[in-house]
Amino acid sequence: MADFSPSALSAEDRALADGVLGGNRRALAKAITLIESIKPDHQQRAEALLETLLPHTGRSLRIGITGVPGVGKSTFIEAFGLHLIGQGHRIAVLAVDPSSSVTGGSILGDKTRMEILSQRTEAFIRPSPSSGSLGGVAEKTREALLLCEAAGFDVILVETVGVGQSETTVAGMTDCFVLLQLPNAGDDLQAIKKGVVELADIVAFNKADIDPVAAERAAAQMRAALAMLRPAAARWQPPVLTVSAIQRTAIADFWQTLLNYRQTMTDAGELAAKRRRQALDWMWTMIDAGLRRRFREHPAVHGALPELARSVEAGAVTPAAAAHKLLNMLNRYF
Ligand code: GDP
Repeated sequence: MADFSPSALSAEDRALADGVLGGNRRALAKAITLIESIKPDHQQRAEALLETLLPHTGRSLRIGITGVPGVGKSTFIEAFGLHLIGQGHRIAVLAVDPSSSVTGGSILGDKTRMEILSQRTEAFIRPSPSSGSLGGVAEKTREALLLCEAAGFDVILVETVGVGQSETTVAGMTDCFVLLQLPNAGDDLQAIKKGVVELADIVAFNKADIDPVAAERAAAQMRAALAMLRPAAARWQPPVLTVSAIQRTAIADFWQTLLNYRQTMTDAGELAAKRRRQALDWMWTMIDAGLRRRFREHPAVHGALPELARSVEAGAVTPAAAAHKLLNMLNRYF
């Protein structure tokens, strides 16, 4: 059989791995910094570290959470996190915020967030990696999630905002995807992207304290919308809750809903299947990205690409012919 055993770790990285396994938050932060580094020698060390820690991963409940800026994500996560700590859990909060590469400023990371939660030793909060593309950010966040699991965090929240494909990306790395909504943002599914509603396993209307009646009305509308979106035979029909992050009401209900979700999906074998699918998708995403990079770096392709691209732009060569020509160049070396 092929040998897939982990590469040897240096004494320094062995100590780092032990620190992570011991639940040490500083070691965890350092390990995440290592995986986020773009230096080739760091990447090699990070890969070996991840391989070593992989057997200790997979035991958390992975929760994705999205909502527009101002919906109350930080307030909610703080309330939820403190509730979980009270129940004996350890919670990690990660973020996927590709906005920094689009707008030059980050939506999730700049202000001091979750101040009380961040002071608790049972919590670990890490802002979004700022490495450019969504694919890059997502890859680092997936790996950070595994490191948090190895460090014994048993509930992991991955937070995002509706920038581009970020919700799909986060739903693709978590067990359960939660949509936070505002009750008073209009009647027509609030002009939110329909695709996001389709991704949601749980919807929570926050700020229900402001106008409980409006919140209930919005929840009822959402239930009706969801009933149309999901096939009636689906194992899980997404529940719609009303909560108040600021008054910390219905936080326990929210946790119970997550536990119901996990139980239902585990019993049906669907959670394990989802994780298997996600792992394979991740592998293929990495392969696609790697092939694309290698393709561009291939000497023959690298030499011919600019001129062929210009010819395609000028209409002198068809895109298909140019693609074939470039792809065929790989045969010479592979
Ligand atoms: P984020 O941008 O989604 O992280 O939103 P924040 O957590 O920063 O909250 C935005 C604003 O909404 C802040 O002023 C919060 O105090 C307020 N807020 C958050 N949750 C609630 C809530 O349940 N009720 C009320 N009335 N205000 C809230």
